[in-house]
Amino acid sequence: MTTRLYRHSLFAEHLTGPDHPERPERMAAVEAVLEAEPFQHLDRAEAPEGTTEQVLLCHPHDYVRQLARVIPTEGLARIESDTIVSPKSFTAALLAVGAACAGVDDVVEKRADNVFVAARPPGHHAERATAMGFCLFNQAAIAARHAQSAHGLSRVAIIDWDVHHGNGTQDIFRSDPSVLYASTHQMPLYPGTGAKSETGAGNIFNAPLREGEGSDEFRDAFRSVILPAVEAFHPDLLIVSAGFDAHWRDPLAGLKLTEHDFDWATAQLLDAAYRHCDGRLVSILEGGYDLDALGRSVARHVERLIVG
Ligand code: ZN
Repeated sequence: MTTRLYRHSLFAEHLTGPDHPERPERMAAVEAVLEAEPFQHLDRAEAPEGTTEQVLLCHPHDYVRQLARVIPTEGLARIESDTIVSPKSFTAALLAVGAACAGVDDVVEKRADNVFVAARPPGHHAERATAMGFCLFNQAAIAARHAQSAHGLSRVAIIDWDVHHGNGTQDIFRSDPSVLYASTHQMPLYPGTGAKSETGAGNIFNAPLREGEGSDEFRDAFRSVILPAVEAFHPDLLIVSAGFDAHWRDPLAGLKLTEHDFDWATAQLLDAAYRHCDGRLVSILEGGYDLDALGRSVARHVERLIVG
């Protein structure tokens, strides 16, 4: 098995100000655990900068221009209630897009069996023309569109286990049955979307969990909703919006998962990827705000990607 890791020093230069949970130290926590012995055989690559054409697969030109305009030349700028940007933020977001698309290229062209993109800012709250919830560009959604436009894949499944619902990804694909979006998340919680009744064009599968629920309920949701949806969809590629903020230690939410649940879910999705699409899976970091839980969860997730 070859697992490729995309990283870039600039992901830690997207600054969000003091006391912001989506902070540069998250990258250091992830990189520290991936230095350990089990990860010596990771194929490490520097994230390439995404192109405007890639960004435009999911976001209108006006939005991209407007976002570029609000990036400060020094200091910080708050562009909506939760989302703060600094001089390097636009480039960091482009690198996240580039890495996600390069990961798709790698698994389709067989340079890697699977890929983990250790990037920030996260992306799944970014709607077509709205930055929100720490997210600027929706790299998971862009990667799915890139797989279709650059490689001719027909059907892409995006599985999102971040504790928050990926309203942006759902928004982008809600009327497009060629992309499946399946999410477990806590509800009620930010951003407020993600009810079971939100089904799009029959391609959206939401499995909300209640505060305090943990491994049993998460795995039940996977077995009863997420995995059957993926199975019936026959995807050509799996993309994971891999947030680790459903961990019990996370300060932003109230689910009770452990790192072992992320290992289990990764194994389930790899199984599905082998059954349907030669193992092609690209995992993209989303949330995860307790540094210790984030590190341990990423370690279990990536270790499972390596062993297959
Ligand atoms: Zn989250």
